[in-house]
Amino acid sequence: MSSSPSLRLLLSDCVLPANEARILLAHVLEKHYQLPRSALLSRDDMVLNEAASTDWEALVSRRTNGDPIAYLLGKKGFHNIELLVAPGVLIPRPETELLVDIALGEIAKLNQPTLILDLGTGSGAIALAIASAAPLATVIATDQSPEALGIARQNAQLLDLHNQVEFAQGSWYEALDNRSLFDVIVSNPPYIANLDPHLTQGDLRFEPLSALTDYASGLSCLEAIIAGVDQCLKPGGLIAVEHGFDQSEAVVQLMQVAHLIDIQVHLDLAGHSRVVSGRKSL
Ligand code: GLN
Repeated sequence: MSSSPSLRLLLSDCVLPANEARILLAHVLEKHYQLPRSALLSRDDMVLNEAASTDWEALVSRRTNGDPIAYLLGKKGFHNIELLVAPGVLIPRPETELLVDIALGEIAKLNQPTLILDLGTGSGAIALAIASAAPLATVIATDQSPEALGIARQNAQLLDLHNQVEFAQGSWYEALDNRSLFDVIVSNPPYIANLDPHLTQGDLRFEPLSALTDYASGLSCLEAIIAGVDQCLKPGGLIAVEHGFDQSEAVVQLMQVAHLIDIQVHLDLAGHSRVVSGRKSL
């Protein structure tokens, strides 16, 4: 009689790196048996039923093919929230949490109801993380992709933040139909240059190209966002944008050209300059 493999054997025989195999098997256990991750150890002699086993094999084969873990799980943790993610949106990155923390610092300083704009929201990560941590903030989040906005709206519902975050479709400031002035503008726009080799490596191969590259020098979206800031920022208001590791000088220059003051470069946890912020003069 051929015996079906135990969880222990599935893990030890898996072609994936051990940590990835554990993440995917824990996902299968949660989905098919509502078991916590600790069951990988406490129930390691368990044998998967047919549906769970088919799922496991499909996940391993898709991961071997390069599919990002976040798309396979359908979710990704970011700042203090968890987001649904799917191939129509960029997978939120840990370095982008810096942008959230800068916005939250400003909101705390203002200590009153604030209006925040997140340009190019994707899954809604930045907008929803801000709203979740700052109940006094109202956030408008834009994206030109209706598919991304669909996922972002779903995330707002699931996190019960739909009364605090409003979504608008369109390219950068064109998405806004009124003349609101914002206390803080944040954006993580596509900033990878056309034909940058990173676009054909790792997770990026599976993410929407339009969320990664401007199909030009990498600076054109940052330029459009910074150039338009004067119309939409309150006097004294703050803008903070994420950029590539080698773009901070160029972004500082764009902010100088836009007559912003108090321009600061912020480092991510890896020590790369990752965000530049500036302020509109009073
Ligand atoms: N931070 C992403 C990466 O380097 C790029 C996201 C973007 O272009 N905004 O993979």
